[in-house]
Amino acid sequence: MSSTTANFRRVDGHLLIEQVPLTAIAARFGTPCYVYSRAQLVRNWQAYDSAFGARAHRIHYAVKANGNLALLQVLHQLGSGFDIVSGGELARTLAAGAVGADLVFSGVGKSRAELIAALQTGIGCINIESAAELDRLADVAKQLSCRAPVAFRVNPDVDPKTHPYISTGLEQNKFGVPISEASTLYRAAAALPQIEIKGIACHIGSQLTELAPIADTVHRIVDLALRLEAEGISLAHLDLGGGLGIRYQDENPPSFAAYVDTLCRIPERFEIHIEPGRSIVGDAGVLLTTVEYLKLTATRHFAICDAAMTELIRPALYEAWHDVEPLAPAGGAAVLASYDLVGPVCESADFLAHGRQLALQSGSQLALMNAGAYGFAMASNYNARPRPPEVLVDGENAHEIRARETWAGLMVGERMLG
Ligand SMILES: *Cc1c(COP(=O)(O)O)cnc(C)c1O
Repeated sequence: MSSTTANFRRVDGHLLIEQVPLTAIAARFGTPCYVYSRAQLVRNWQAYDSAFGARAHRIHYAVKANGNLALLQVLHQLGSGFDIVSGGELARTLAAGAVGADLVFSGVGKSRAELIAALQTGIGCINIESAAELDRLADVAKQLSCRAPVAFRVNPDVDPKTHPYISTGLEQNKFGVPISEASTLYRAAAALPQIEIKGIACHIGSQLTELAPIADTVHRIVDLALRLEAEGISLAHLDLGGGLGIRYQDENPPSFAAYVDTLCRIPERFEIHIEPGRSIVGDAGVLLTTVEYLKLTATRHFAICDAAMTELIRPALYEAWHDVEPLAPAGGAAVLASYDLVGPVCESADFLAHGRQLALQSGSQLALMNAGAYGFAMASNYNARPRPPEVLVDGENAHEIRARETWAGLMVGERMLG
């Protein structure tokens, strides 16, 4: 099996997550269903943390990858901070036990209400993305009689060599401020009494599989930091963002250790901050689905599944590849063929996988591997489909950390005309 980790293994043909057969999870909670390994989540976070050794650092887990409260709670208990991109994520991290100092607020379009809520928590840092946002933030801080801790998200203009939809550090992107304009903005910020400059931030993209663009980014950000210092603008931290890739198919992303080594080229006096999302939670989760029907046409073999683009949009959105693993040995009526796995949603883009060699029959249960990041987080109710439950496995125990939505629940808040 190409994509299993220590916490997903096969015993007598049955796929286990930690000590629990996934068929048992499917029987208890139904499908579609997201299942996460607590041990894998912890292992990933600790691998980053220990790679830094004694080097001053802070890990802010990017909540947008997967914001389930129980996962945030586990990470908070390990000592993680959080990278948030909305007021909703702010509320989630506080509910999971974090305090303002644990948080960094990223994003290109923060509203006044979001900035007020963030400042009221005593937030650790707000990563500003434009001159207009600096103005708004200074104004809000004045209104609240406080100082706003900030970094500018700088756009280093390096090509991260990833999918265009998840590349963010090029000059053509909407994110960040051009590195050429950064000094001017830092000078403007330094002159504002409501603003406290903390550092420099960047984030060049997601699913990065090469070290060279990261090394290049480190070089450019350090260069800017030294120029700002020369002007008397001191910085406590450099935030290199998230983005480290994981192995979905045959990618070979750098190890956490090699990645952290590259970041540690940053001079010692700067604390290093990172904002990993996918690499913390991606390989800790799977999506379980059941084959409803086989539909064998002259040209295609379709396996119509109970999961769809509504549960996992990555294949439809990015042509992403997820390994497909049967939960148990094939049944007697299984047909071995090359299948397109599709869902019930009324869109031709609704597919989970194309051309997979599998032995299937109606009722076969499958796991889409490496679905922990940007899986549930991007799930929708399109076609009035209730979102699936989420289950966290810890050793022999399975905890339902989010209940399946219901048909009735989907109508809450709607009003018919009197
Ligand atoms: C999305 C995002 C991250 C996390 O990216 P991953 O690829 O999931 O590690 C970190 N920082 C910012 C600003 C982001 O937008």
